[in-house]
Amino acid sequence: MPSVVGRFAPSPSGALHIGSLVAALGSFLQARAQGGRWLLRMDDLDTPRVEPGAAERILDALVFFELRWDGEILYQDTRRDAYRLAIEHLKNAGQAFDCGCTRREARSGQGGIEGPIYPGTCRGGLPPGRQARSVRFRVDGQCFTVADSVQGGYEQRLDRDIGDFVIRRADGIVAYQLATVLDDDYQGVTEVVRGADLLSSTPRQIALQKALGLDTPRYAHLPVIVDEAGEKLGKSTGAMPLRPEKPGAQLAQCLHWLGQCPPDSLWDANASHVLRWGLDNWSLDRVPKTPEAVA
Ligand code: GLU
Repeated sequence: MPSVVGRFAPSPSGALHIGSLVAALGSFLQARAQGGRWLLRMDDLDTPRVEPGAAERILDALVFFELRWDGEILYQDTRRDAYRLAIEHLKNAGQAFDCGCTRREARSGQGGIEGPIYPGTCRGGLPPGRQARSVRFRVDGQCFTVADSVQGGYEQRLDRDIGDFVIRRADGIVAYQLATVLDDDYQGVTEVVRGADLLSSTPRQIALQKALGLDTPRYAHLPVIVDEAGEKLGKSTGAMPLRPEKPGAQLAQCLHWLGQCPPDSLWDANASHVLRWGLDNWSLDRVPKTPEAVA
């Protein structure tokens, strides 16, 4: 059986918060409990959203929680050539096309699940007088199903649900969907464990994997932790910042949200003890099969 490789891929747009600690811990335990490797990637492509110093603070927090990664950290910023080659390949194969539409023009179509479906203006070539702005991936009526280890089967028909989606933005930045697929493959990731807010991105990622001849890893989407008003706990709401004095209790709290039923004694234990218990008792089957869980 091929060895398991998991990963955590934070965006350095702010400090690690308790919501992202759940994803870090879940991906760590799922990889390590199977004797696998756990890699770290900094999703630092979206430079306007990168906060100076955030990457270092995230690394410090992971070390503090004793979530030690294997090998070198991959910074997406170093992968620009690979992204460029993949975009050229997709364009040459007719699976991607230059788009000259402004954001407003692109949003003039019918509603999809994440906003209007691209109306197809530049699918057959740039209209005369238009300059290329972004690059889009060409979708069709095929259904893509995610066999998610937590959330079960999740299906999209990309032409109806999403539309031709951007793989290089008008500001030149490579879109998350493409960078993630290329980097998961480059890092040899076999299990993607992350928040369920990314489940709806996964059919796009599988479509890109197929178009690029890449393997599809296993996916497990963990519930996103929300407050009683349904707001995601995290940097945007500022809720539940990480508390430096209680790393063990916070890890135990994350285990509880992940359905692992940690014993009461773990709330007073240190981080390494909680992680040891987590590794010995981890079961993905116990993770709540819901996209959201209330804190
Ligand atoms: N960088 C993304 C985030 O922090 C996660 C990407 C992924 O796990 O695929 O939301």
